Amino acid sequence: MPKENLIWMDGELLEESRATVPFLTTALHYGLGVFEGIRCYHTARGPAIFRLDEHMQRLVNSAKILGFRSLPYTAEELGQACKQVVKANGFEACYIRPLIYHTSAQRSMNIDAGVAKVGIAAWEWGAYLGDEALESGVRMHVSSFTRHHPNVMMTKAKVTGNYANSSLAKTESVRLGFDEAVMLDPQGFVAECSGENLFIVRDGVIYTPGTPTVLEGITRDALMELAAGLGHRVVETQISRDQLYIADECFVCGTAAEVVPVTEIDFRVIGSGKMGPITRAIQKEFFALVHGEHARSAEWLDYV
Ligand code: PMP
Repeated sequence: MPKENLIWMDGELLEESRATVPFLTTALHYGLGVFEGIRCYHTARGPAIFRLDEHMQRLVNSAKILGFRSLPYTAEELGQACKQVVKANGFEACYIRPLIYHTSAQRSMNIDAGVAKVGIAAWEWGAYLGDEALESGVRMHVSSFTRHHPNVMMTKAKVTGNYANSSLAKTESVRLGFDEAVMLDPQGFVAECSGENLFIVRDGVIYTPGTPTVLEGITRDALMELAAGLGHRVVETQISRDQLYIADECFVCGTAAEVVPVTEIDFRVIGSGKMGPITRAIQKEFFALVHGEHARSAEWLDYV
């Protein structure tokens, strides 16, 4: 029998097969959960979690946005628990998935009629869009599904229910033979992908959609700082679908995906059809950063 991963369930480390929730858990029925995706990287000083504090802050912010008025743990305690999960499993590098979920004895969808429970899992996870995609890039299309309106589903919160929208888009993409979907906001401007933020480069300037309708990606934020450090101008603005087609470069980023060039959108080749020089430079900085080899690594890595 292969060794089972250990999952932290409300303070206790349980083997994966024992880390279960009852069928009537309201989170399962109404999408009432909030989660994070965090990566822990191998470094010369041992495993290190990238921007743990920011992820924990976003997690408790997501819970607040969804309406939880109290949580059983602080952001700091949840961060410690993430480290405990990495250590207990003996991982050198892994993906960490905390989830705060709603459970209600009355089976009510009223947040106040239930309580928050917390689980934190971790597993060894390679490049989300494939190892090859990091160099060769991905092919995308503009989804037939629109990204959330911020007054319909809160776009700053990683609410589990929000991801039904991502799942519709991702499944459609893969069934059509693409790797990932570009989703437009309700006004028709580029928002984000099913699980990544998006950037384009044109005439040496980097553009990305502003945050009103997209998740405030932690990788997005890091890349904006890295790009500025390399002397590039980064502009947050509305981007139209046709501006994607005529970009010199395009790349997407996220905790799971990391930094991936986009070589084709809706059957239009982007730029040279290969990873562009600015994307390459930013990707290189990113991997140096997360592996503890960048001037700013100390600031953004939390050694386990
Ligand atoms: N947008 C969406 C919809 C996402 O799910 C993610 C992944 N969390 C991102 C963007 C990228 O965010 P981050 O860099 O914080 O992982």
